[in-house]
Amino acid sequence: QRDEWAAMVHALSISRDGQRFEISANIGDPNDVADALRQGADGVGLFRSEFLYMGSDHLPTEDEQYRAYRQALINMQGKPVVVRTMDIGGDKPLPYLPLPREMNPFLGYRAIRICLKHPEIFRVQLRALIRASKYGPLSIMFPMISTIAELRAAKKIFNDCKAELQKERPGLGDDIKLGMMIEVPLAAINADQFAKEVDFFSIGTNDLIQYNFAADRGNDEVSYLYQPLNPAFLGLIKHVIDAGHRHDTKVAMCGEMAGDRFALPLLLGMGLDEYSMSASSILRTRALMAKLDTNECARLVDAAINDCVTANAVQQLVKKRITVE
Ligand code: PEP
Ligand code: MG
Repeated sequence: QRDEWAAMVHALSISRDGQRFEISANIGDPNDVADALRQGADGVGLFRSEFLYMGSDHLPTEDEQYRAYRQALINMQGKPVVVRTMDIGGDKPLPYLPLPREMNPFLGYRAIRICLKHPEIFRVQLRALIRASKYGPLSIMFPMISTIAELRAAKKIFNDCKAELQKERPGLGDDIKLGMMIEVPLAAINADQFAKEVDFFSIGTNDLIQYNFAADRGNDEVSYLYQPLNPAFLGLIKHVIDAGHRHDTKVAMCGEMAGDRFALPLLLGMGLDEYSMSASSILRTRALMAKLDTNECARLVDAAINDCVTANAVQQLVKKRITVE
């Protein structure tokens, strides 16, 4: 099996019936790129930029961030890199940015909510990203978007930064693709509207599951409610993918579910375009993808959503219909 996976390092991410997808890496640091490439990543699907902030004793300056993003892009050798703007708050505190103590940090002041309240902090990151974009194909995505107004406000700040930088370098940043995480239930429900306003979605299942099941993702007592295969939840994922595709918006997934072997046949059957996961899962996923037929997987999705009522039943169905390693 190790040999089978090793042969996958330079292989395309392709289903048995010849459909092409992307299998990318989640990283937290530009130095993670080497491992991502060793594991055959098609790109970086999620650069968790908050680790730059957490690994520093001050808000990283524009130049410090610029160097980190440039390094990631150069080291990826022309493969696409998706940087998520900082997702501080929730379970990720910043010692030098005192946030109010909250009863419900995951429902509180975090991520894009901080960035929109403090555009002076947000602008430093966006300017660094726009400057770095000349070193490779860069996409930027916003975390924790709940409403269209938030998305538009974030895009406006991005466009202002770009216009500013373009006074000196015309065209700089024009190739950057803009996307958003789908990790708040309302964003998933409202995916048709959002799809008209972004180039791509990336489904963050860690948070999307936590919020849909109202179950803290870090609390063992409620971990039984972490159910990526729940048929109702699968229906929501399918809705997001279909909505994206109705508007030519590419749909990725960067939560843990993207690297889940039981979920893969279902996601493939729904037509998910990009699978972003920890580097160590890439080769296993590519090997499994090569054995799956997308039409057969689409029938499996139908059965999972329409004939199953529990996550367990879906798992049994996937096991029975498809030989999972
Ligand atoms: C997610 O919520 O699924 C996600 C990828 O983001 P994070 O795990 O960093 O919250
Ligand atoms: Mg998240």
